[in-house]
Amino acid sequence: MAFNGTAEAGNAMDALYSGTDFSSLNWTEQKWVAWYVWWGNPVIATGMISFLMHEIVYFGRSLPWIIIDAIPYFQKWKLQPNKIPTPQEQWDCTKQVLWAHLTVELPAIWLFYPMAEFVGMKTYQVPFPSLSTMSWQIFFFMFFEDLFHWAAHRALHTPLLYKYVHKIHHKYSAPFGLAAEYAHPAEVMILGMGTLGGSLFLCLFTEVHFISFFIWVIVKLFQAIDAHSGYDFPWSLQHILPFWSGAEHHDFHHMAFTNNYSTSFRWWDRIFGTDDKYLVYRERVQAVKAKATSKEEFLKAEQALMDEVLAEGLKAENAVEERSKRKAKVQ
Ligand SMILES: [Zn+2]
Ligand SMILES: [Zn+2]
Repeated sequence: MAFNGTAEAGNAMDALYSGTDFSSLNWTEQKWVAWYVWWGNPVIATGMISFLMHEIVYFGRSLPWIIIDAIPYFQKWKLQPNKIPTPQEQWDCTKQVLWAHLTVELPAIWLFYPMAEFVGMKTYQVPFPSLSTMSWQIFFFMFFEDLFHWAAHRALHTPLLYKYVHKIHHKYSAPFGLAAEYAHPAEVMILGMGTLGGSLFLCLFTEVHFISFFIWVIVKLFQAIDAHSGYDFPWSLQHILPFWSGAEHHDFHHMAFTNNYSTSFRWWDRIFGTDDKYLVYRERVQAVKAKATSKEEFLKAEQALMDEVLAEGLKAENAVEERSKRKAKVQ
């Protein structure tokens, strides 16, 4: 294996990997060892790989959506077709998100290692768990995050938390991929606990390796960016897995300012009845579709429905802000 030949690397090698049989490791595990040895410090190595992955995946996954927004052909699949984000809007959002990554997320990432170490999560160790172990653990993290997010997101819509925290994320009533993490730092921290919490919790019961958490964060970033994309294609995942939320579900949340609080799955909103307005809206769209005699007529009627939902959403948002003022006065 190619390690850098410095004395520090040699020390890190001895401290972290004495007694490891390198001949039994696969290519990825060897690269994992090389990364940790190269940095010579597992806290820095874990922080750096987390931050780099986050930036590469976040902006890498957002790029195709920026390109799609620039090509009129794709407009027919845009959920709110009259609200294509302008390049200026996308650029302003990029700057804000990047600034938040550097000033909030980068420092916060360093808090992860002590927490992981405290609950006994494996980080630099090799070999990795089996694929089946990683798969069920990643599904558990996803399940945990979805439920946590449903509850925390509902709390973020209460008057004071909305006005002072969550309002920033609702700047865009028609979201786009880059806007997935456009949020107040407190919101990033609160909702980040859902992303992180499942892995820390599971460590109390079984062995968890950081690589499972690492892959889960990649999955989570894809989920969040795609849910904000604003596009629903015939081949989108929700048409294959009907319980998958996808963009169609979350776009309604931004448009209507209510309902659809979860992230990955539709079941909690269905069980707790927080998708009632969304279901009525969908029925109305279907009714309009059945009645329309041409595509143009349908699109016009659908737009009128969207305008109605948007107007109601604005009213609901104003009502929440009014209540926050009253609460602030009482306190
Ligand atoms: Zn919200
Ligand atoms: Zn959102």
